[in-house]
Amino acid sequence: MENGTTKKPPTEAVNRWHFGPNDLLAAAGGRTIRGIIHRITSSVDERGPRPLVPLGLGDPSVFPSFRISTSAEDAIVESLRSAQHNHYPPTVGLLSARRAIAEHLSENLPYELSPDDVFITAGCNQAIELVAVSLARPGANILLPRPGYPMYETHCVYNNLEIRHFDLVPERGWQIDLDQVEQLSDENTVAMVVINPSNPCGSVLSFEHMQKIAETASKLGIMLIADEVYSHSTFGGTPFVPMGVFGLIVPILTLGSLSKGWIVPGWRLGWVVMTDPKAILKETKVIDSITNFLEISADPATFIQAAVPQIIERTKNGYFERIVNLLRATAEICYDKIKEISCITCPSKPEASMFVMVKLELSLLDGIHDDVDFCLKLAKEESVVLCPGSALEMKNWLRITFAVEPSSLELGLERLKSFCQRHEKK
Ligand SMILES: *Cc1c(COP(=O)(O)O)cnc(C)c1O
Repeated sequence: MENGTTKKPPTEAVNRWHFGPNDLLAAAGGRTIRGIIHRITSSVDERGPRPLVPLGLGDPSVFPSFRISTSAEDAIVESLRSAQHNHYPPTVGLLSARRAIAEHLSENLPYELSPDDVFITAGCNQAIELVAVSLARPGANILLPRPGYPMYETHCVYNNLEIRHFDLVPERGWQIDLDQVEQLSDENTVAMVVINPSNPCGSVLSFEHMQKIAETASKLGIMLIADEVYSHSTFGGTPFVPMGVFGLIVPILTLGSLSKGWIVPGWRLGWVVMTDPKAILKETKVIDSITNFLEISADPATFIQAAVPQIIERTKNGYFERIVNLLRATAEICYDKIKEISCITCPSKPEASMFVMVKLELSLLDGIHDDVDFCLKLAKEESVVLCPGSALEMKNWLRITFAVEPSSLELGLERLKSFCQRHEKK
């Protein structure tokens, strides 16, 4: 995607000083969702009469209906006020937080995790960076889902870890094309990323399909990276199964955070967990790379880490039930409204996460070149922001987030519908 800069002759400053930008960063970071959404948002007419409806990013923390439970906030306040947590945290994370996360995740596993299996990171995004850095041996490649979550691409590119994409198949409920996975992999393939529940598809993988994924990975000699940030956000017919259930078949690094389940992305608290009862990650020394990485990287604040046991303990089922019911309702609004729009089709009803992927039927539209053009014009004319599929390697698709205040969602989708009607071929 072009970044809008044109070549200019070097200025005086460029000639005079020896420093300049790191082009590797531009190459890696140029396609983050936040960057693309920012570009689309800037074409919204801010002086216009209509407020912006943001259906591009998944951060519902700003909406009143998605306010987190106050008991989690109280846990942070108490942790801070105790004056016990003003010190540096250990590089791998505070023991009490590691223990609480190990116990929490063990509830749904056929074996017991130990605090030593858990590493605390600054949100799941840093866990993704950790994975990319730890696995990037010269010549190695990694299998990533298409569509997926571009932070993986960003960190792999930056660390020279070759990317190979496998497809999620819309006609099969966004299941993984496992034949393609086998064709793509070779002796330099080190891992495969599985995002379940799915951002951006809003789907949940079945137990049977996950078992096949684990068996395929084992056969190929690669580990699984299980991104489970939406483990608390399922509201459809398919129950969430943690990948770690298959840890006896294949070694797994499970990634998670408080950000999505507890709706506190700003608290920057995430984790990487070895769901690997055979201790293969220890034997192959991958764990050494993980601890080496953590020794040279930034940590989440100690008082946030110290509040984790109380946050998990006090936000029990009632809280998740409320959020899950809300997500179910907004997903329903979204799905029903999309059915009324002829140039947009939704292959399957979302049953998890905060997003749905929909296909744009360009042949039904006049004067719209592609998904990015669609999003730019939609932003300009209707002050509605969506994420173009191109940002997720899915040209002429769109990602819509339904995790917004229900009234805003209805407003945004109504405007999307009138935009489409206005641009329909006559
Ligand atoms: C939001 C998200 C992350 C990042 O989580 P943070 O804890 O906010 O860093 C990682 N993976 C997926 C699939 C996400 O949607």
